[in-house]
Order: sequence, then structure tokens, then C-alpha cells
Amino acid sequence: MSLKLLIHELRETTADRTVKLTLPSEPIEFQGDIFTAVKPAVLEMHLHPEGNSIAVTGSITGEWSLPCSRCLQPTRVELDCTFEDMWPMSTDDETAEDFYASAYIEEDKTILNVTEYGMEVLLEHLPMRSLCSVECQGLCSACGANLNFEECNCGKRDVDPRLAVLGRLLNDKGGVRDGTT
Ligand SMILES: [Zn+2]
Ligand SMILES: [Zn+2]
Repeated sequence: MSLKLLIHELRETTADRTVKLTLPSEPIEFQGDIFTAVKPAVLEMHLHPEGNSIAVTGSITGEWSLPCSRCLQPTRVELDCTFEDMWPMSTDDETAEDFYASAYIEEDKTILNVTEYGMEVLLEHLPMRSLCSVECQGLCSACGANLNFEECNCGKRDVDPRLAVLGRLLNDKGGVRDGTT
């Protein structure tokens, strides 16, 4: 269920208001990674009417699991960020164009879908990449071994990487039937 606010109500209100909600916890696909929620994200916002706008100060917290960008083992990222925004309440205002064209403004500019808005803010603040540890050794680019747990011989032989690839291709070929015999 999405939390929705009526824009005409926002426009008329003069009192401050606090909004708190849990964002949907389904996996998020972002920059080629899948973020799986460990703790659902919580959005909290303080809305303060200011002239023709509403000043928004908010925070988002949450925790996700995603593959380490070097070794691909599952690792966790936490988010605890704050943000500020300004919601223009007049549709005539030129600067309001982007706001009223957003995906979270619905039903002919009468409804602000707070859940959608929160997801958008969340995507702006998610970390781009994450490492299981700053010392992560990653995977061997030649044989794919996880160098955090095992050693491979690729690095030690000090081969030209282009030759290594060729060697691997030749090895692979030996195990494949080509259908001509
Ligand atoms: Zn790693
Ligand atoms: Zn290797």
C-alpha cells in the first residue's frame, strides 16, 4: 500500500507535519546489482509550509544485501542519510514544472505518492558499489578463483595475460567434441 497525500490539502495546511513510513522491501535493481532488503527502508519526513512551498527535511535508513563488487560474495550495505527538498505548491511556477511532471505526482497533479517519492530519494542515495571488505582480493581474472579463500597459480607464473587467455582457449578446446568425427 502506498501512502498518498492530497496536494490541495498540502496547499491549505499551515501547520508542520511529520510523515513516517516503511518503503516496499522488494529487491531493487540498481546499476546492475540486485539490492535485497535485510531491514526494510524507513522514510521519515518533516513538512514545513513556507510561502508557496513546503520545505521538506527527511531521512532514510535501511539495510540491504548485495554482491561484493570485487568477489561477488554477498555483502551488506547500510543507508542512513538525510535529505532536503522543496515541494512547490503552485503549478504555475516555472520551477514547479519538473516537480509536477514527476512519476510520484498522480491523478492530474492532485496526489503526491509519498511511497514513490521515497523510492526515488532512496535510489539517489544508494551506494554505487560495495566491497565485502576494503582488503577484498577479488576474483582472479584468469581462472575466476576467489582470492580471499584460495590461491591460484595464474599470477605466479607471470604470464602475459593475452597468452593466458589463449592457453585457456586451447585447454577448453581439448574437452569439447566438435562434431566432425
Ligand atoms: Zn569481496
Ligand atoms: Zn587464477
